[in-house]
Amino acid sequence: MNAVIPIRQEAAGCQDAPVLKERGQREVFCGLTGIIWLHRKIQDAFFLVVGSRTCAHLVQSAAGVMIFAEPRFATAIIDERDLAGLADANEELDRVVRQLLERRPEIKLLFLVGSCPSEVIKLDLSRAASRLSTQFSPQVRVLNYSGSGIETTFTQGEDACLASLVPSLPEAAPEAPPSLMVVGALADVVEDQFSRLLSQLGIGPVHFFPPRHANELPPLGPNTRFLLAQPFLADTGRALEARGAQRLSAPFPLGIEGTTAWLQAAAHAFGVDPAHFESVTAPARQRGQAALSRQRAALEGKRIFFFPDSQLEIPLARFLSRELGMQLLEVGTPYLHRQHLAEELAWLPAGTTLSEGQDVENQIERCRAAQPDIVVCGLGLANPLEAEGLTTKWAIELVFTPIHGYEQAGDLAELFSRPLLRRLRLAA
Ligand code: SF4
Repeated sequence: MNAVIPIRQEAAGCQDAPVLKERGQREVFCGLTGIIWLHRKIQDAFFLVVGSRTCAHLVQSAAGVMIFAEPRFATAIIDERDLAGLADANEELDRVVRQLLERRPEIKLLFLVGSCPSEVIKLDLSRAASRLSTQFSPQVRVLNYSGSGIETTFTQGEDACLASLVPSLPEAAPEAPPSLMVVGALADVVEDQFSRLLSQLGIGPVHFFPPRHANELPPLGPNTRFLLAQPFLADTGRALEARGAQRLSAPFPLGIEGTTAWLQAAAHAFGVDPAHFESVTAPARQRGQAALSRQRAALEGKRIFFFPDSQLEIPLARFLSRELGMQLLEVGTPYLHRQHLAEELAWLPAGTTLSEGQDVENQIERCRAAQPDIVVCGLGLANPLEAEGLTTKWAIELVFTPIHGYEQAGDLAELFSRPLLRRLRLAA
């Protein structure tokens, strides 16, 4: 498509830039954390963690708000057992699931979520899921995935969850017209905004994956085009492509530029007239620009350092440097998917220091030496760095907060300006 929206292009940005690869000790949450936002998204799903007391504590404390509600997650605690005790463990799991489904008939989709204690690793959860699915079908579908801390970071929990759902997606009819699937859990408010924009552009049918209800699984086939809304969905993308769907390459919908290019990728694939694209998106772009201009004074020229945590780091760095004038000192990411991030890397300023993986002590030393104005990092690092006088932003907040799309661009910028302003006030 001949885009009518001017988007500044860098020569090659960081597409071929060297990446510092580190494989040392890491400071990140495990994939169980994803249950917190996934259980809000799929409203009739239940997440049963098969794990230890540590896993139960993690999920409970991360989701403390659920004390008075009927929670849609729980932990089946598997204690120390030897291999001879595995038959009992399976029986116990079946009993817990039976009790749960009797008490909660509204559950339509049950995820058995694996964890990293060795006694859980010994259990074959995929066999348990298929055994239980046969038993409770068609009322309840039982699937399994791993939220283990052995993976590289916490957002991989969502990737593993969605990848486990892909085989359950119904086959689209061969004669079905092209459809668009937006992939990645988005806040409902953001999903509604995208849905309205895509409909005004004349793009459709549009499906969101994951859906809000288990009986709304979108159809999938060679006529499915999909747009990733999150940069951490490597396995899900692969599983969708294996079933014939085609990924539309695009940056991620963070900030005005990212959102515009992301929508343009869909518009191009569905033959939308550029002038129509311009007129549909202009009002939201203008609102977004106005919101960003209010944040620019606090952020322009400020130096930012990213520790690897959510896998959102590269799109965020691109947004903060290009649209708010921040300086990137180091952009760390737990895992760099070059194909899914190709457009993002091209938009990073040439010469940006990129790192993949972590050796936390070395990275803390680099951070101290650089003395950034703001550091994006996990909860475990934030307090010690604050105590040293550095200003921090918790990376996990960026996953829990609606940040995608035009209307959220100002809020996203504010997530970075707020800690800087707080530090200024404390220093005054
Ligand atoms: S899955 Fe592993 S890392 Fe996560 S809470 Fe359980 S024991 Fe800890």
